[in-house]
Amino acid sequence: MLDRIEHWWKSFFLVELFQGLRLTGRHLWKKKITVQFPEERTPQSPRFRGLHALRRYPNGEERCIACKLCEAVCPALAITIEAGPRQSDGTRRTTRYEIDLFKCIYCGFCEESCPVDSIVETRVLDYHFEERGEHIMTKAKLLAIGDKYEAQIAADRAEDAPYR
Ligand code: SF4
Ligand code: SF4
Repeated sequence: MLDRIEHWWKSFFLVELFQGLRLTGRHLWKKKITVQFPEERTPQSPRFRGLHALRRYPNGEERCIACKLCEAVCPALAITIEAGPRQSDGTRRTTRYEIDLFKCIYCGFCEESCPVDSIVETRVLDYHFEERGEHIMTKAKLLAIGDKYEAQIAADRAEDAPYR
């Protein structure tokens, strides 16, 4: 009975509405913290797990040795690899390396498992797709991302990098 009276009293005098307005009023004149993305950005951790990339060695040779550890460890089954000996020197290389970004859960296991620091997750977070099928990241696309962001990727993984 008391509960019902209290409920009626609060409803009649709009108590919860005024409580909400009081909270709004407390923040009305405070400094605004809205970030005008993408012109402004919040600080980002060097461990951020964003868009994937395949890296190369400084001499331009691709790092990936087609061991398929990343494919095996991926919990979302997002990675597809086919491999074979490269014609020029007979070394084992991927003939197909694809990541389905619609399946990926950005767990970072692929990066953790890679013995040669080939597959990595970059800090790139604002990407989009406009055509059907663009969510499949092919080897060529992944290598191009690696080439573009190599300086940042290397700096985040350096021995003296913060939070490494
Ligand atoms: S981040 Fe995780 S889910 Fe995405 S490809 Fe790598 S292992 Fe698979
Ligand atoms: S990216 Fe790394 S873990 Fe995956 S197949 Fe290549 S070398 Fe192996």
